[in-house]
Amino acid sequence: MTRRAIAAAYAPTTGVINPYEACFGLADSAARNGVEIRTGCPVTGLRHDGDLWTITTADGPVVARFVINAAGVAAALIATMAGAGAYRMRFRKGEEYLLDKRLQGIVRHVIYPCPSPTSKGVLVIPTYDGTIMIGPTADEVDDPADLATTVDGATRIIAAASRLVPGISERDVIAEFAGMRAVLDDEDFRIGSTAAPDFFDVAGIQSPGLTAAPAIAVMVVELLRDAGLELAEPVTPGAPLPPFVHFADAPLARQQELANSDPRYGHIVCRCEIVTEAEVCQAIARGAATLDGIKFRTRAGMGRCQGGFCTSRCMALLASELAVPLAAVTKRGGDSWLVVDRDEGVLP
Ligand SMILES: Cc1cc2nc3c(=O)[nH]c(=O)nc-3n(C[C@H](O)[C@H](O)[C@H](O)COP(=O)(O)OP(=O)(O)OC[C@H]3O[C@@H](n4cnc5c(N)ncnc54)[C@H](O)[C@@H]3O)c2cc1C
Repeated sequence: MTRRAIAAAYAPTTGVINPYEACFGLADSAARNGVEIRTGCPVTGLRHDGDLWTITTADGPVVARFVINAAGVAAALIATMAGAGAYRMRFRKGEEYLLDKRLQGIVRHVIYPCPSPTSKGVLVIPTYDGTIMIGPTADEVDDPADLATTVDGATRIIAAASRLVPGISERDVIAEFAGMRAVLDDEDFRIGSTAAPDFFDVAGIQSPGLTAAPAIAVMVVELLRDAGLELAEPVTPGAPLPPFVHFADAPLARQQELANSDPRYGHIVCRCEIVTEAEVCQAIARGAATLDGIKFRTRAGMGRCQGGFCTSRCMALLASELAVPLAAVTKRGGDSWLVVDRDEGVLP
C-alpha cells in the first residue's frame, strides 16, 4: 500500500548555506587580519615549558601562549599529547549521496523525517548550488579514517529518501562521499579550559557544528579574554577581495563582457558546470593548490561527469600556474597524487 503524507511540521529556521564559500570567506578575512594559515601541516607533539607551548609540526616548531584544540576526530589524541586530560571519542560516519541536477527543483526546502535518538535522520536537501543531496547515515565505526561509502549505506539512504520524496532513485546518484562526526560519550560539545595550562578544547563538535561554529567562536574569544589575552579590534587591512565571478551564473551580456575583457572567460574548462579557465586561474591565484581546492571554489568537477572532462585540464592549469610538474599535482594534498611520472616513478 502506498502511504502518502497527510501533514508535516514546517521548520522555518532551517537554512542551507554554501559551506565552501563560508569557509573561504572566513579564511580570507582571517588572513587579512594577520592570521598565518598552514595547511597540510599535522601537529605531532606539544610541550609546555611553564610559560609557552612548543607545538611540533611537519613544518617545524610553532611557539604559542595559547592552544585551541579544534582537531575534529583527532581532538582526543591531541588533548592526550598535551596532557590536557584524556577522554573517549567515538566516530560516527555519515554517507551522503548527490543527485543529478536533472532533479533540481524537486524540493524547495530541506525535507526531514522524524529524528532518531542519534541523528536528524535521512534528509532531502536542496543544496546552494542546485543539486539535491540525500543522507546522511549515522553509523559508529572504529576507524576515524574510514570514509568509504557502502552498498548498505546507499541502499538505506535511497530507500529513506524515496519514502520522503517519491521518484528519487539510485540512477540519479552522480557522487557519493562520507564524513566523520566526532562524538563524546555525553553527546555534547566540549568547549573550555583543560587540565593543561592555556590549552582549550573545542572537541566533540558533531552535528550541527557548522551551524554552531560562529557561536562557538564567540565563546572561545571570551575564554581567551578571561585567560588574559589582550584582543585587538579587527584591522581588515586593504580592500576585501572582490567577489568570486561565477561565469555560469552571469547573464549573457555580462558573460560577453567578461569574455571580451579576458579571453580565458571564453574557454570552458568544466562543461557540466560551465566553469571557465579564468575562474580556475582566479581560484589558483586565491590559494587553491589542489584539484579539490579548485573544485570547492569554482564547482569544476562537481557536475554529472564528476571530473571526467575537466580533471586533466585543471591539473594542467595547476601545473603551469604554480610552476610544478604535473606529477606533483594532488587531489587534496598529502600523497593523493593523480599521475605518476614515467621516468621518476612515484614522488616521495
Ligand atoms: C555527514 C555529516 C553531515 C553533517 N551535517 C551537518 C549539518 O547539516 N549542519 C551542521 O551544522 N553540521 C553538520 N555536520 C557537522 C559538521 O560537519 C561538524 O560539526 C564540523 O565540521 C566540525 O568542525 P570541527 O572544526 O570541529 O572539525 P573538522 O571540520 O573535522 O576540522 C578538524 C580539522 O583538524 C584538522 N586536524 C586533525 N588532526 C590534526 C593534527 N594532528 N594536526 C593539525 N590539524 C589536524 C583536520 O585536518 C581538520 O581540518 C555534519 C557532519 C557530517 C559528518
